[in-house]
Amino acid sequence: MVETKTQAAEGKVVSIHYKLTIDGTVIDESGDHPLAYLHGHGGIVPGLERQLTGKSVGDKLRAVVPPDEGYGERLGDGQKSLPRNAFPLEEDIEEGMQFAAEGPDDDIVPFWIVSATADEVVVDFNHPLAGETLTFDVEIVGVRDPSAEELAHGHVHEPGSHHHH
Ligand code: ZN
Repeated sequence: MVETKTQAAEGKVVSIHYKLTIDGTVIDESGDHPLAYLHGHGGIVPGLERQLTGKSVGDKLRAVVPPDEGYGERLGDGQKSLPRNAFPLEEDIEEGMQFAAEGPDDDIVPFWIVSATADEVVVDFNHPLAGETLTFDVEIVGVRDPSAEELAHGHVHEPGSHHHH
């Protein structure tokens, strides 16, 4: 009897082990626990999601993702200097932290801290990995149907992967 393998597809919860490198430097990896995401709901970068579509448990692949399918192209004037008191003074502001501002159309615009001193904070509206070609070495370790709640929320509920707003 032929067993049909479940494939990564729209609406499936897919678990992957991955290692992300840029020019051979390891940027991020899944470690002990695989990353679980809801396929087709923007949980991972579009180029990786596209290349995982149709893959099954046990499949391994290297996905090379250009900026336009990753974190976007880098915009030249994305950096901005703000006074330190534009941020909560009781909070430690450190390089790499992510914040969000309200844009002109009430949309939420994310930005990242480039540097911070006692007086000045330099922020960048480019994602830190914008403009980079991303190489993901991926192994698919799980594909399952989501719970009704997960589907309603558009994200996965698993230990370590759940962060409600
Ligand atoms: Zn939830």
